[in-house]
Amino acid sequence: MLEHDVIIVGGGLAGSRAAVEIARMNPKLSIAVVAKTHPIRSHSVAAQGGIASSLRNVDSEDSWEAHAFDTVKGSDYLADQDAVELLTQEAPDVVLDLEHMGVLFSRLPDGRIAQRAFGGHSHKRTCYAADKTGHAILHELVNNLRRYGVTIYDEWYVMRLIFEDSDAKGVVMYRIRDGQLVVVRAKAVMFATGGYGRVYNTTSNDFASTGDGLAMTAAVGLPLEDMEFVQFHPTGLYGVGVLISEAVRGEGAYLVNSEGDRFMATYAPSRMELAPRDITSRAIVKEIRAGRGIHLDGSAGGPFINLDVRHLGREHIMSRIPFAWEEAHRLLGVDAVHQPIPVRPTVHYSMGGIPTNTDGRVRSSAEGLTEGFFAAGEAACVSVHGANRLGSNSLLECVVYGRRTGAAIARYVGQRKLPDIDEQRYLRDAQQRLQSLLDRPGQVRIGHLRQEFQDCMTEHCGVFRTESVMQEGLDKVRSLRQQAEHVYLDDKGTLWNTELVEAMELQSIMLVGEMILTSALNRQESRGSHSREDYLNRDDERFLQHTMAYSSAAGIEIGDRPVTITRFQPQERKY
Ligand SMILES: Cc1cc2nc3c(=O)[nH]c(=O)nc-3n(C[C@H](O)[C@H](O)[C@H](O)COP(=O)(O)OP(=O)(O)OC[C@H]3O[C@@H](n4cnc5c(N)ncnc54)[C@H](O)[C@@H]3O)c2cc1C
Repeated sequence: MLEHDVIIVGGGLAGSRAAVEIARMNPKLSIAVVAKTHPIRSHSVAAQGGIASSLRNVDSEDSWEAHAFDTVKGSDYLADQDAVELLTQEAPDVVLDLEHMGVLFSRLPDGRIAQRAFGGHSHKRTCYAADKTGHAILHELVNNLRRYGVTIYDEWYVMRLIFEDSDAKGVVMYRIRDGQLVVVRAKAVMFATGGYGRVYNTTSNDFASTGDGLAMTAAVGLPLEDMEFVQFHPTGLYGVGVLISEAVRGEGAYLVNSEGDRFMATYAPSRMELAPRDITSRAIVKEIRAGRGIHLDGSAGGPFINLDVRHLGREHIMSRIPFAWEEAHRLLGVDAVHQPIPVRPTVHYSMGGIPTNTDGRVRSSAEGLTEGFFAAGEAACVSVHGANRLGSNSLLECVVYGRRTGAAIARYVGQRKLPDIDEQRYLRDAQQRLQSLLDRPGQVRIGHLRQEFQDCMTEHCGVFRTESVMQEGLDKVRSLRQQAEHVYLDDKGTLWNTELVEAMELQSIMLVGEMILTSALNRQESRGSHSREDYLNRDDERFLQHTMAYSSAAGIEIGDRPVTITRFQPQERKY
């Protein structure tokens, strides 16, 4: 059995930032970060547009209060306002701290950090490193992990949270290289396992975004919060789903339909292309449904609309959004200097997740807290994004709540002993789970079943939702989960058995998908990204509350948790 004071699952921005904070606060602690990828291949590395913070370098009128209001309004008033206040108050400090670590932000001519416009933000407050911001930040954080002597287990797959009597004691992990199983015990376990974009068939997320942390949390009977809120990013590259960053619209790009109209004038006249993502994604789907989408030959009635940057000129495009140009060119052969980029909404971000308080402590229910268990980043729901996240607030959340959670863990483990664990029992269970996957006589292939499941989620729980369609989807997901019992693996070996890992990931996305559908069916209103065609309005009387979904052998049960409101009373959300 391995032992550490702290084990952090996830080497993206949230996990790495937490590890750095713990090491800074108490260099004597033994800290480990485990990731199924290499930490610098975590999805955070792909973040493009930037990180929000009211530094006032470009816009002297900005303030943390304005940032907090924009965030709460963007969340359709479902965010917990105490958590949003901390997020926006601490934003300038965490960004400057990153700068001091050496992150290469883009600069103004006078040398200060540059800031750009972003959807739903009323001021220019998004700091960036061209359109490769996640890359710049994550590389610096991972360098710091090494500098602080954090142990890194890369390419280990964590397959179980050890959780007994409301107490997290460690994890069971599987070394992908050679199939070795290990139990790790720790005084504190932190999940920073990122999002679950792979629940859907078209996503901007990487292949590792399979919601494992959420599934492992649900598997021990803990709740998942607000799972119905799935963010569709308006501008996924047509046919691929890869992200064309919101920074492109931040720099002035137009969204144009088959008639050549900048249609956002109809949906959000004051913000146009920089309306929040839920509103912009719905507008695009409505245009496509109304026959004003575009085909690849340029004719009307097609499946995408155009993102046009031609008026910005080559120099601006190449200096501010070079990566977007590169993606469109590499994947579709489109030269954005001379041609519009075909786009449509793509699954991008999970607002919901593992419920925590503002110290990253995981909740056991609406009122209770677990012992020894922490979470932050996209896997967690603290909740600063409520029903819809604003662009550039996620990297910020990872850094602010990564740091806060790290600090809380450093304090927490000071008073805790290493827990006792029946190592043999957990090893036996893990071995049995793997062996039963390897021994199955079934005929269903993972790729086939995963595609059917992802298509089902996309069709039945997309941008627009209705009761009957979702119910049908839920029935289908349940039946697909049964079929997953008959998945057959070709690879029976122990060396780099990625098929075995994919089989476990399939179990994760299926459980997460069922949680999403069940939570979405329960919320009979439209709020933020959850848009119901059978309940068109927001219903504060019945649904100004968080969803808490609990999974057990008997099925999924839905409870709720009150929303914390401090300074902004809910109003109608208009742009
Ligand atoms: C293309 C793209 C662009 C984006 N651009 C922006 C942007 O400009 N601004 C912004 O604010 N947000 C952006 N976002 C969102 C933001 O990048 C993410 O929400 C954020 O980086 C998530 O960080 P994280 O640390 O929570 O998780 P991740 O960076 O996703 O890391 C998850 C980690 O968990 C590990 N892991 C998961 N499961 C297991 C397991 N079972 N065992 C072991 N390890 C495991 C993975 O290996 C990885 O190390 C973007 C997202 C995408 C997809």
